[in-house]
Amino acid sequence: MKQKKIVVINDLLPTEQPGAASIAYRLFNKFNTESSARYWTTSVQPTSLIHENPHISLLRISEDAARQSSRGLKHKLKCEYLSLTPLIWLYKQVRAEKPSVAIVQQIGNRFPRTLIPLMNFMGVKVICTLHDFSWLVPRKLFPKDLKISSSELLEKGKLEGNRQADNSIIREGSLLRYTVFRFRLLINRQILNHCASVIAISQLQAEIYKSFGFKISAVIPNNVEKCSCKLPLETRRENTILLFAGRSYAKGLEEVFEITQENPSTILYLAGPSDLPERAKSKLNPDQFYYFGNLEPSKLYELLHKIGFVVVLSECFDVYPTITLEALSHGSLVLTNRNTGNSELVASIFPNLVINDIASLDFNALALMSTEIRDSMKFKEVQDRVTGDEMFLEYSRYVNRILNL
Ligand SMILES: [Zn+2]
Repeated sequence: MKQKKIVVINDLLPTEQPGAASIAYRLFNKFNTESSARYWTTSVQPTSLIHENPHISLLRISEDAARQSSRGLKHKLKCEYLSLTPLIWLYKQVRAEKPSVAIVQQIGNRFPRTLIPLMNFMGVKVICTLHDFSWLVPRKLFPKDLKISSSELLEKGKLEGNRQADNSIIREGSLLRYTVFRFRLLINRQILNHCASVIAISQLQAEIYKSFGFKISAVIPNNVEKCSCKLPLETRRENTILLFAGRSYAKGLEEVFEITQENPSTILYLAGPSDLPERAKSKLNPDQFYYFGNLEPSKLYELLHKIGFVVVLSECFDVYPTITLEALSHGSLVLTNRNTGNSELVASIFPNLVINDIASLDFNALALMSTEIRDSMKFKEVQDRVTGDEMFLEYSRYVNRILNL
């Protein structure tokens, strides 16, 4: 690779919210070992990651500013396009660091999307990755407005072009609301036209975006780091512990409570925002769940060695949940459903851990078999697939191609 500066941009650090931020941070670290890479992000809390790595530049934002995007459509639109403080900060960063290529991952909450045309005008080539459907429908409105949860849309054959997907995703509500959404789609398409490449992370996601007129250059599924945890000797795995890690909406939390209720010997571990324990209190006995707060990646990985299963029962089409990949990397089994884009990976493990009807789930039987499943060749094959270097190699290829233009 040419010695040109690469910057990876993401709204968040993985310490604040894993998922896309973990993927962005992994890409940054990989590029940083090959050449001089930078990571530009925001944080509400001071973070130890900054002191460890001088290549990370961070815009500190207030708690109030961080909450803006959840205050309804008007604030959401401001965060997506018109937040001036981050735009000015990014402008100064570009002037100071002069990167050649920007790999833009998850943005639109704290960094406005208008950073893409801004960087393009300043001579930086942009590769942008779409991690979910937030460029189609505002993320905070999931799943009410995202109707592609319906199983027929999960089958590619049924996605008959623009009209059907359009009606399925943006329907109900007022004409004004519909017009705002259509206008927003138009702006988002225009913004992405300023990118040298637009990457999707699953084939079906790419097709849905294309049906809305977006130009997708490639599909690059996410990979995560291979387990390199140095665990205390006494670490033991408890197969009847379930872990739910993530936000409280659209991720199947109610079903996770049901599984826990149905199996009294099960303990539920919760990691994520502070409304998780509130929700759990109303459904479970206090001794049936434990809340860890937001976990730093290293702490999350440690936990993944102590539990039997991670539960990812997304309510609407969840493009490629990172927690599934991280769980597999650190040897935890994953109970998931067909709504998740990486359920195909899980489906190749025997027995089937892709459940679409939790009523028929015999969790105790699965827990008894879990050590055997973990030791199977199939499981190890899947682990190798999710921890490979394909994602980084593909991005490297795109970066090189752009630099050679
Ligand atoms: Zn590990």
